[in-house]
Amino acid sequence: MCLPDFFKRLFSKKELFHYTVEETSVRVEPLPVALPAKPAVDPLDSINEYFINKGCRSLDNFIINDEINGYDLQKLAWLNGITLQLRSGWYELLKKLVVELHQAGWDKRVSCIKEKYAELRFHTAGFDEIIDRYTVASKTVCETCGEKGKIRNQGGWDYGACRRHYIETKAVIEITPDGFTVDGTAFYWKDIVSAGFADEPNYYGDYHLLKIIFQETIKASNSGWGDHILYLRSGDYGWGAFMQAVSGRFNGLDQNYLAKFGPPAFCRTCGYLAVYNKKCECCEERIYIEKDHSHYGDEQDYYKHQQLYWYDDEGDVYEAMAPHYPKSPDYVKLVNDEEVKQHHKDMQDLDFL
Ligand SMILES: [Zn+2]
Ligand SMILES: [Zn+2]
Repeated sequence: MCLPDFFKRLFSKKELFHYTVEETSVRVEPLPVALPAKPAVDPLDSINEYFINKGCRSLDNFIINDEINGYDLQKLAWLNGITLQLRSGWYELLKKLVVELHQAGWDKRVSCIKEKYAELRFHTAGFDEIIDRYTVASKTVCETCGEKGKIRNQGGWDYGACRRHYIETKAVIEITPDGFTVDGTAFYWKDIVSAGFADEPNYYGDYHLLKIIFQETIKASNSGWGDHILYLRSGDYGWGAFMQAVSGRFNGLDQNYLAKFGPPAFCRTCGYLAVYNKKCECCEERIYIEKDHSHYGDEQDYYKHQQLYWYDDEGDVYEAMAPHYPKSPDYVKLVNDEEVKQHHKDMQDLDFL
């Protein structure tokens, strides 16, 4: 809901409220008619946490400075009749935006603060240049922790995450003699009613989401809306091996797609045995194909470029800590630490903040 509409409706119904002003608070007693859902007093004020605008009742009195925190941001939203629809990793970014807007003469009115398509959306009148910079910057900040991140895709869903918080969302699929496990929970082929891809193939003809329906209720952390449905995602560890295992097993699956999955090959970007269907499921980079990557000098230039991203993202650090694939003894690292640092700096220079 947008602020102007919400506020207009809220305050046009002022006559429906009976206001009692006491020393430090305003008690609003609704008359027995249908009223907007907004509580009369911000529930935030009763929590046992300090924030500068605790108890603030109006935007005119709302204080904006470098000391405000996430609770102040929630208060700002509440005073505007909206809620923050984004995760706390972006609070620091949002705080900087609010401070900069304030310094530019903003009236503190905002109709929407949310994450959409992994970008910050902040709707207010004017200040487009400032807001655009923060929208761009949001694409490089983890929505969970606020550290450097990038836009990831999981099951067709885009979101911003650092490497650590991204890999936490990836399930580990392992094939067993009579079925498979997902994060250690066992499933059996004999219990499956049907399996089918839940999305449309992308430009490369690849799917991202597999829906598996079981006869009985299942226990799985990533189970879907029904309690007998399991979703597996192309970003999960072991997707390639799973595609091989289900090939020919279920009628509902696109066999042309499954046929693209052969035995894995070592990846020249990350070095792990994880390349299926022309893409590595460890570093998630595609293999070099001359017609697709002709804008690179040559094959070596392509892999060097991909390795800069892989090492800057600390991919090797996390994979080495908890390996999911064997590493090639012949792997050639094409970049040194200095080049990775320089790459990191170049990327930061693109960051406008
Ligand atoms: Zn993070
Ligand atoms: Zn790789």
